[in-house]
Amino acid sequence: MGFDRDKLWLSGNEAIALGAWEAGVQVASGYPGTPSTEVMGNLVKYEGVYGEWAPNEKVGLEVAIGASFAGVRSLATMKHVGLNVAADPLFTASYTGGRGGLVILNADDPQMHSSQNEQDNRNYAFAAKLPMLEPSDPAEAKAMMLSAYEFSEELDCPVLFRITTRIAHVKGVVPRGERVAPATPSIERMPAKFVMLPGNARVRRGVVEERMARARELAETLPENRVEDGDRSRGFICAGTSYNYVKEAFPGAAVLKLGMVWPLPEKMIREFAASVDELIVVEELDPFLENHIKAMGIACRGKDLIPAQGELNSFIVRKSIEPESVGELFAPLELPMRPPNMCAGCPHRGIFYGLSKMKDVFVSGDIGCYTLGFLPPLSAMDSCVCMGASVTIAHGMAKALGKAGEGKLVAVLGDSTFMHSGITGLINTIYNESYASVIILDNRITAMTGHQQNPASGRNIKGEPANAIDLEKLCEAVGVRRVVVVNPHDINATRKVLKEEIESTEPSVIISRAPCVLLPEERARKKPVYYTNLDNCTGCQACVGLGCPAISWHPLTPEEARARGYREKQKGYAEINEVQCNGCGQCASLCKFEAITCREEN
Ligand code: SF4
Ligand code: SF4
Repeated sequence: MGFDRDKLWLSGNEAIALGAWEAGVQVASGYPGTPSTEVMGNLVKYEGVYGEWAPNEKVGLEVAIGASFAGVRSLATMKHVGLNVAADPLFTASYTGGRGGLVILNADDPQMHSSQNEQDNRNYAFAAKLPMLEPSDPAEAKAMMLSAYEFSEELDCPVLFRITTRIAHVKGVVPRGERVAPATPSIERMPAKFVMLPGNARVRRGVVEERMARARELAETLPENRVEDGDRSRGFICAGTSYNYVKEAFPGAAVLKLGMVWPLPEKMIREFAASVDELIVVEELDPFLENHIKAMGIACRGKDLIPAQGELNSFIVRKSIEPESVGELFAPLELPMRPPNMCAGCPHRGIFYGLSKMKDVFVSGDIGCYTLGFLPPLSAMDSCVCMGASVTIAHGMAKALGKAGEGKLVAVLGDSTFMHSGITGLINTIYNESYASVIILDNRITAMTGHQQNPASGRNIKGEPANAIDLEKLCEAVGVRRVVVVNPHDINATRKVLKEEIESTEPSVIISRAPCVLLPEERARKKPVYYTNLDNCTGCQACVGLGCPAISWHPLTPEEARARGYREKQKGYAEINEVQCNGCGQCASLCKFEAITCREEN
């Protein structure tokens, strides 16, 4: 078999990046959020595209709207919860439309593999009165990106492009194409279209309805919406990854596959429904298609059979519809569980260890890898709602508790999350005179999503040097008088600072600064390695309390303890796996028995 240069093996996210490039996109902005993150990282590798990480999704979408106003094709990327942040400009951009095509890549996360909620953003297409496309595999994802830009320009509105985790990360063969010639940017003053004062907005409101009527007509003839013939005793309507599950579970059935999930091709759906004995809608999460199809007066089944929570697969689809026919073939493999944990040597561990010892302090947490501080043995996080909410929730609690909360409230969030929306909460804390402390875990990167740069990290999306926001000066500039920087690996000094700052009755910011151990430069750096001198271990478990995955605990019976030369009462001993150890030294500072020793740098 020969090598075909025109076919590539790409993930959905890589295919979307290629599709955006081929569609002639010139400006793209996004905020990293699994499962959407890799779209931006791949897109900026192509020539002729300006791409950037924005501090949050609202900013990213507004940048893309600006580029569209200047006449070029633009892209905004985000995960499902990011669209909540960007909802403000989204709803008004639906009225203004643009000049160059504008596509908003929205990645939903059924099953919450890496998210704080499970939300179905097809509802945004309905609510914002915008067309939404949804591909079923990487090749379709690439092809549909071009369609999305064509619709955007034809209908004069942003187009929502929905994927889910499966489509983002699955790999498939994708044919390469030619890049559409990029447009020449220009300034055109169109105030009646772009200035959404009430007088103009009321006119545009009518335009939105006319546009959606045209979009409904367009949906009827779109190649992305198609009927696949088969056994008509049972017909399926599905879209996105659900299409693949239906094809695997019921290969011979008739299927109406929707590539445009809003607005719906009503005539096509009516004809398909009339041609089958029983109509079943298979979709992940909400009964979005089902409800709209029922509202058309068409009888169908859906969520009375198919689960409305979590990710589907072909086994679940088959079992939900024909439970008696499910055989061994579909039995899912039981894989061993790997409990989530912060990495060996993670700097956040030092902070959460300190907080775990402050039993009467409420820790208002945030979204990032440090949310793992919630898990045992540290168990040092009491709330986590959404990006940036740590600071505002702590402030709200302070206002509710008054003096009773003094010395008991602390917010914890990462450097990237602080840039995303923590800064506005801090401004509010100062402006409205609160006392909660804020800990910014500055590990020099946006780690949770796979190491993306942010405005505080000093590099841009391509890893090139960029202006770095000075966190200390920024906090001081908004009025914080107590700004302290700590090295979280220094357990004792960190605990002292935490105590002082949290007990303070004026707001303070503690910047916990140490790089993520997985940064390439950290991995390359020569580091000390720690090992256990087992003879000295008393089994006190002080080091085990850190929860470092490089430290394992070996329980002992009294006989085993005696045989190893320990006191009979010793319950076990701790041991460091030197291969896993990242040399942070936190455990060594906790061991009072000189059982943990540092080898020379490796
Ligand atoms: S020094 Fe201790 S806490 Fe740090 S990575 Fe090694 S074993 Fe874990
Ligand atoms: S290594 Fe040190 S801290 Fe860890 S259990 Fe043994 S004596 Fe305690």
